[in-house]
Amino acid sequence: MHEHSLVRSLLAQVQQIALLNGSNEVTDIELEVGPLSGVEPSLVESAFATLRMGTCAETSKLSIRLVPLIVACQDCGSESVLECFRIRCSKCQSGSVKVIQGEIFRLLTVTLAEPNPDETNMADAVTSATTEEKRSGS
Ligand SMILES: [Zn+2]
Repeated sequence: MHEHSLVRSLLAQVQQIALLNGSNEVTDIELEVGPLSGVEPSLVESAFATLRMGTCAETSKLSIRLVPLIVACQDCGSESVLECFRIRCSKCQSGSVKVIQGEIFRLLTVTLAEPNPDETNMADAVTSATTEEKRSGS
């Protein structure tokens, strides 16, 4: 299953982050999922419930943040948040737009239990894995 492989690589990232920070317990994991990521949040949750067993995230809480779909118009330059999948500029109605947000599936934050209980912002440290391309760090 698609979500299973995503969650598997997510857990690998989380485990690595915990290790690097000298922790073996993760309390919170926060994900961002865009409407065009092709990822079904409920399937991510059920995959997570199964795959986290035996990892440092076994008792952690998973939060999935659904982010809006945002496009940039190539004609008038406006940025619009789309409520539905009518992909066009909401200002001038042009269909010539480039999606600038909506395809993401990425790890947002990981909170470790010990020794540092502070929330770690993973914006720079984590490679985002989209559904189309998956990168594996060496
Ligand atoms: Zn426009």
